[in-house]
Amino acid sequence: MKKATQAVHAGKRHSVNQGGVVTPIFTSTAISYMDDSEVRYPRYFNTINSQVTADKLACLEESEAAIVTSSGMGAISSVMLALLKPGDHVVVLEGLYGGSHALVLEEFQRLGIEWSFVAADPDSMRSAFQPNSRMVYVESPTNPLLRVLNLKEVASLAKSNRAISVIDGTFATPILQNPIALGFDIVLHSGTKYLGGHSDLCCGVVAGNEININKVRNTAITYGTSLNAQDCALLERSLQTLELRVMRQSENALVIAQAMEKHPLVRKVNYPGLAAHPQHEIARRQMRAFGGMLSFELDESIEVESYLRNLNLIGCAVSLGGVESTICQPVATSHMKMPEQERQRLGITPRLLRLSVGIEDPQDLLEDLLPG
Ligand SMILES: *Cc1c(COP(=O)(O)O)cnc(C)c1O
Repeated sequence: MKKATQAVHAGKRHSVNQGGVVTPIFTSTAISYMDDSEVRYPRYFNTINSQVTADKLACLEESEAAIVTSSGMGAISSVMLALLKPGDHVVVLEGLYGGSHALVLEEFQRLGIEWSFVAADPDSMRSAFQPNSRMVYVESPTNPLLRVLNLKEVASLAKSNRAISVIDGTFATPILQNPIALGFDIVLHSGTKYLGGHSDLCCGVVAGNEININKVRNTAITYGTSLNAQDCALLERSLQTLELRVMRQSENALVIAQAMEKHPLVRKVNYPGLAAHPQHEIARRQMRAFGGMLSFELDESIEVESYLRNLNLIGCAVSLGGVESTICQPVATSHMKMPEQERQRLGITPRLLRLSVGIEDPQDLLEDLLPG
């Protein structure tokens, strides 16, 4: 099955649907165990809405198994807690999503886990491995600069150092990129973004092989990061249009990036779909399209705050991946806590804006973004 078909049909269990085409929402927390093969309970990730949704995601990610969690951070923390122990070392990509960055800085220290931040190039990654390196943790494309890692290369680097490779694939979604097929052990997502896709649902996903997912699930059961039945059903519903949404968002983003690239009031555009993007060739090889996220730097002649306030259609918001386009200034939002010097080194300037492109008509979006 192709992605669009998987998005609609994968995971469905017609036997529980009472003739309907939709999975019923099963809210019972007390479940008879006498004639069942296992003890079922919502927090155990084994009730019907949780399983159907996880099965759809496992199929989309081309993985053996998956679990659906109560947030993206719930997915990330469950993976870390399940697969790391005191004394282990983690090779971590620099400039991670803020919550993940905080998890490393605040929790790893407390848990006795060591780490090295590395730049998004194979050489600095290669030289960061230590004998106790147990995990490589990356994102691609990255936030907010949309750098793209060569995933095959990162996965094999991890393998040759006997470390587990983990990627946060939130920006790409399983529609555009399947890291497990490229050798990664685990791919996780903030489902709050594209997977939910309508800015009304907070959830997360972890996908991988049975052995790893069993470990992560056991830890997630202990720490209690399951997702309730209603939200599992909402996620299952949303995933059915994931391919449609993400392909349209990618088309729109390319149109906008190309128009911005030529515009005198935009100094720089970061979008993997542009031929000028430094990893455009890698992105072309490992992604089906280039996604709905882009960032750009405004010319000095434009005042950033008044530019943002003058947008009519596009709202200033920190989340992303919804059907509606949203924009934010990373230095004032997602990267506010990052020290100024670090931001400068990475290239996250006050003139940089991050745009999450929705499914609207691209001409309407362009008129808002580049008036006149
Ligand atoms: C939002 C986000 C997260 C955290 O997800 P929550 O659902 O907010 O917990 C993790 N990684 C990336 C890349 C994100 O954008």
